[in-house]
Amino acid sequence: MKQFVDERWLIRKRSSGKARVALVFPNSYFVGMSNLGLHVVLRLLSEEYAIACERAFINGESMNKPVRTIESGSLLSSFSVIAFSVPFEGDYPNIVRALLGSGITLRAVERKPLEPIIIGGGTALSINPEPIADIFDAIVMGEAEAVMGELSTAVEALAHEREREKIWERLSSIDGVYVPMLMDRPPNVVLADMKQIEPAHSVILTRETEFANTFLIEIARGCNFKCHYCAYGNLYCRARFFTADQVINVVRRYREKFDSVGLVSAVVSSHPEVEKIACAIADDGLRVSVSSLRADTLTEGLVAALSKRGSTSMTIAPETGTERLRRAIGKSISDEDIERAIKLAEKHGMHSIKLYFMFGLPFETDEDVTAIGELVKGLAERQKGMSFTVSACAFVPKKGTPLERFGMAPAQVLERRSKLLLSSLKGIERVRVSIESIRMSQLQALFSLGDRRVLSVIERAIGLGGSFSAWKRAVAETLCCTLEDFTQHPVTTQATN
Ligand code: SF4
Repeated sequence: MKQFVDERWLIRKRSSGKARVALVFPNSYFVGMSNLGLHVVLRLLSEEYAIACERAFINGESMNKPVRTIESGSLLSSFSVIAFSVPFEGDYPNIVRALLGSGITLRAVERKPLEPIIIGGGTALSINPEPIADIFDAIVMGEAEAVMGELSTAVEALAHEREREKIWERLSSIDGVYVPMLMDRPPNVVLADMKQIEPAHSVILTRETEFANTFLIEIARGCNFKCHYCAYGNLYCRARFFTADQVINVVRRYREKFDSVGLVSAVVSSHPEVEKIACAIADDGLRVSVSSLRADTLTEGLVAALSKRGSTSMTIAPETGTERLRRAIGKSISDEDIERAIKLAEKHGMHSIKLYFMFGLPFETDEDVTAIGELVKGLAERQKGMSFTVSACAFVPKKGTPLERFGMAPAQVLERRSKLLLSSLKGIERVRVSIESIRMSQLQALFSLGDRRVLSVIERAIGLGGSFSAWKRAVAETLCCTLEDFTQHPVTTQATN
């Protein structure tokens, strides 16, 4: 794998240890290495718990073929333990492809004694593990640090255990670990004690990520806002902050290895010490950037610190074109908040703004969609020094959120609103637009809302070639309804587990 040669490790690379684990990210190297969750597990296993960890990624080339690790080229099937890090439910089919392609029995209950123990974790599985729960011997529900000590001890002890029932029993005794073969429903998510752990951070730097050679560090977890559509905010519904000292100390430990730092959190601008953190990093001569910002909590001090070392862009998620709809979906930011944030960005020398929107939301009218164009047009006309990138996708209902029960809008409504949105944004100077595929969003809804029957759908759709019509046929054959029915009426079309 060519990207691999470009890597710079910030922690010691461990080639042997108490146990040997394949850590698999079910998407490409580029996506996986951009994800802090993978870095956290790699650091915990290899640095804190002395387990030799090799990474594997599932990219276009490796689809339906035996998967090999990038460290030693070993086959997945040669490991006694495979750990999947799964932040996005859209990657569920890649897990199935990886296992089938590697000749590993898909369902835990059918797996033979000499086959690997398969463990999963990550935000998507914490939100709704059910669609692929039957694959796993165990799933970590919540934050890795909260279970990793006990889990790594168990993994070490179980590496040569061949009786699967014994493996399940041992793993099910760990708080926060879901053993789908023994439990009807997942336990509550477990949270780490922020005072006792290190902020999650990059442990390998590479050009081949979304944030090339940028040291990512998490400054907070959870979120206080509970927007009605957001699974993360409703699952981890209390913001918890690392202190400025915790963050700055970690950055300074590795400071010579990079010149750019990305602060990661759903609530960057709500952190009570974010200005202190950003200023300290900028004063050390490093460029500071952030994930996305809530326009209503943004301060001038933070924007000034971000722009001090040349950060030139900012990301804001207005989600809708009207304040009425924003309020209805629980996102209480005003048009004025958005405009103020962009003015601050312009004042401090930034010149590019990313704006995220959704369409097909419950309570939405065509006028709400055309209002997105009006909002963006107004912003572009008033902030002439700015260029804008507008990204939009269809609303995908998420498990455990207040909007889950509304389901997804019908495909023809989504198609119409997507066209309306495009035409409302057409011809606005300095505005680039990208709209995600509606079909992909429908499949995402199948995975985000689905129950245990969905694994058979995935298996069947892959067997039929994986085209969109294969997915529709697989849903019809397996769930006895259409994909549209399933995503529009999630409550009535799902089996009760
Ligand atoms: S969308 Fe952002 S602000 Fe809203 S609940 Fe989710 S993480 Fe929090």
